Amino acid sequence: MATGPLADVALSSARLTGDDVTVDVTIESQGETVTVTGTARGRWVGECRRCLETTGGEVDVQLSEVFEPHPVEGETYPLGRDALDLEPLLREAFALALPLAPLCDEACAGPDPEAHPVRTEEAEPPADPRWSALDSLRFE
Ligand SMILES: [Zn+2]
Repeated sequence: MATGPLADVALSSARLTGDDVTVDVTIESQGETVTVTGTARGRWVGECRRCLETTGGEVDVQLSEVFEPHPVEGETYPLGRDALDLEPLLREAFALALPLAPLCDEACAGPDPEAHPVRTEEAEPPADPRWSALDSLRFE
């Protein structure tokens, strides 16, 4: 188990917070290659797509990746001589897992009128004095 911050993982709609992500992986070496399997968990923040309020949550990713000395572009990761750099794989996994269209709640109804009251008293134009005579007219 390892923890640490993962900076700059972001979509336009959501991003990982600066909090540590937790990584729980099993690392197995087989000859020249190393297989990393396990899970990682981080926290994200973003804007609700309906009410535009800040929302967030936890995001879990499944990891199952191969590191090798001569990586295949887009398929495996480079294996250093004595270091295994999990950061690129974590970045990729979290970037794919972040919500593209976050919702603060499945039932979110959109902008909260209580939070952003519409000032109806200003919506009605003041009475025009020229019409006031009509107010006193009565049809018999
Ligand atoms: Zn919302």
